Amino acid sequence: MSADNRFDILLEPVRIGPVTARNRFYQVPHCNGMGYRDPTAAAHMRGVKAEGGWAVVCTEQVELHYSSEITPYIELRLWDDRDIPAVARMADRIHEHGALAGLELAYNGLNGPNFYSREVPMAPTGLPVATFTYDPVQARSMTRQDIRNLRRWHRAAARRARQAGFDLVYVYAGHALGFLHHFISRRFNHRTDEYGGTLENRTRLLKEILIDTKEAIGDTCAVPCRLSMDELLGPQGLEKAEAEEVVGLLAEIPDLWDFCLSGWENDSRTSRFGEEGGHEPYLAGLKGLTTKPVVGVGRYTSPDRMAAVVRTGIVDLVGCARPSISDPFLPRKVAEGRLEDIRECIGCNICVSGDFTMSPIRCTQNPTMGEEWRRGWHPEYIRPRESEKPVLIVGAGPAGLEAAQALGKRGYAVTLAEKGREPGGRVRRESRLPGLAAWNRVTEYRVGQLRKLPDVEIYFESELDAAAVLEFGAPRVVLATGARWRADGVGHHWTRPMPIAEEAQVLTPDDVMDGRMPAGERVLVWDDDHYYMGGVLAELLAAREFDTTYATPASEASTWTRNTMEQFFIQARLLEKGVRVETFRNLDRIAPGAATLSCVHTGRADIQPFDAVVLVTSRAPAQELALELAARQATWADAGVESIETIGDAHAPATIAHAVYAGRRYAEGLDGPEDTGDTLPFRRERTELADD
Ligand code: ADP
Ligand code: SF4
Repeated sequence: MSADNRFDILLEPVRIGPVTARNRFYQVPHCNGMGYRDPTAAAHMRGVKAEGGWAVVCTEQVELHYSSEITPYIELRLWDDRDIPAVARMADRIHEHGALAGLELAYNGLNGPNFYSREVPMAPTGLPVATFTYDPVQARSMTRQDIRNLRRWHRAAARRARQAGFDLVYVYAGHALGFLHHFISRRFNHRTDEYGGTLENRTRLLKEILIDTKEAIGDTCAVPCRLSMDELLGPQGLEKAEAEEVVGLLAEIPDLWDFCLSGWENDSRTSRFGEEGGHEPYLAGLKGLTTKPVVGVGRYTSPDRMAAVVRTGIVDLVGCARPSISDPFLPRKVAEGRLEDIRECIGCNICVSGDFTMSPIRCTQNPTMGEEWRRGWHPEYIRPRESEKPVLIVGAGPAGLEAAQALGKRGYAVTLAEKGREPGGRVRRESRLPGLAAWNRVTEYRVGQLRKLPDVEIYFESELDAAAVLEFGAPRVVLATGARWRADGVGHHWTRPMPIAEEAQVLTPDDVMDGRMPAGERVLVWDDDHYYMGGVLAELLAAREFDTTYATPASEASTWTRNTMEQFFIQARLLEKGVRVETFRNLDRIAPGAATLSCVHTGRADIQPFDAVVLVTSRAPAQELALELAARQATWADAGVESIETIGDAHAPATIAHAVYAGRRYAEGLDGPEDTGDTLPFRRERTELADD
């Protein structure tokens, strides 16, 4: 029973083949950038979710055979028995907290260039591999013998998954990321044998593999099927009507249907490009085609939406990846009626960037994500204070707010001084930009937590200078004063100020966010930052009817957002809004009414008329206060000040996730062992040396 009976439905158990989920909160498989390199860190990350009440906690995709691997990406592997202990550790951590452990077997086929194994990739039809990086490798068409082999390998991997202790073992036909999806979709399957042609033929291998898996392990393990509901490519790809037919053909064979949408970039759209529950129109009606339980996702963060999607009969289990990353304790908070404590996902996909950059998963909202074992951090608990010494924090942006709430939970007396009228710093400002409203949850969650902490006081309109800080006399001082966008063009290209004529009209993102619009009509946004800011400002200016050009030295708009799977959507939106997008363009000079742009390859330059230029290049840390205080270090002791540390953007500007992490790191480290850099401050796993 939940504390609030509106949510009782979410706490009901659901039978999935031979196993039973304790409630309807289902963590669907998701990648994490840890994979086979960091199996213990990944196991603990999953274990914390089980502790937080999820009924089912799944792995990411697990490569089932060496002949299909996706190097350089690092997902888990079950190539042979020696891989069992690493995945078994994950099942153990999940079971320790009473959840079911799910494992997603994957054979990527056309999506794996096999740079590590150097095997020739196999696919229903020989085509160039379908990787993001256009690798110069082609897959070969599978023979009937290949298909028989692959069925045998899949059965063997399923048995290994069971041996590792997993309760659910997936058959994966989703996201265009594996051979079963490729077989179903006529885009990739041009075969003329019994595995090609009609939909029934294209579905044959999925059916065979489902039956194989059930025969191999189905007596004790549930066998879910993950299927894309629509490739969103119109008649060229799999459409919903066809997906429905597939479900109709296989309806009762799997123990559970887990429906995803199109490729990963559509399935996990950022909040800028997709709403909570955005999958519902595709999910609608699928449950009626089977008696087996159905899971669907849609970045559900609101328990009301979750209860509604179950109550209206769209799904039986609420699938979540990002909401479980942002708040591993979401189910427990719902059960205990602590809705205000839910750390809602902001839909930024920084978590996805961990996978794309092959670095341990990180989350903007949950700075402990990926650090559960590495640093021993926990999303809900933090060790009590180890001294009575109060802390003064200057600046209530994401770094200052996170430090304040984490220190407050440790029991320290904290004073947070903010020069503005509102909390949130850059997050509050940026969340007013088009499509970024959900980002303000970073502020809202932390302010909500601070309200519950009696020993934390926030003062607004309190700009502190060095004298005020010293006069306050807190033994510990944290400077989280943020950063300002530079107006001199310094960034990746210009490492010193660029040539700008005095009378030229130059604006920074801060100017635009402060409401200062360019005078005139023709505006150039020059983006040498490459994350979201340049693209979002061009979108905003175009929406305000400026004749907007977006130029960048990169090959595409907002190129780093490839790592958040937004690049395609951003560039499409700019073009749709009438923004001229000029790529491979350096900005050489800004004159009144004109700018000189040049080709990054040839240096060929042309002067174009612009009334104003918005420079999106880099930010300068706001370090004036830190420098002033450093100059007075001799007086600290008399003022009762023991330490002054600068954190977040004021230390070195980076993402919001970095700032939140910096706040947490300060709070976790306070009164702990001194971090001198002489020893590793985190745990790591090392590859075992093989026999020489
Ligand atoms: P971060 O991302 O590191 O948290 P932000 O730029 O988001 O940095 O936030 C910094 C906050 O610090 C802003 O809200 C700003 O108003 C505040 N701030 C900057 N300097 C001072 C100061 N001297 N006294 C009080 N608040 C300050
Ligand atoms: Fe949500 Fe962003 Fe955290 Fe991912 S990184 S879970 S999208 S808040």
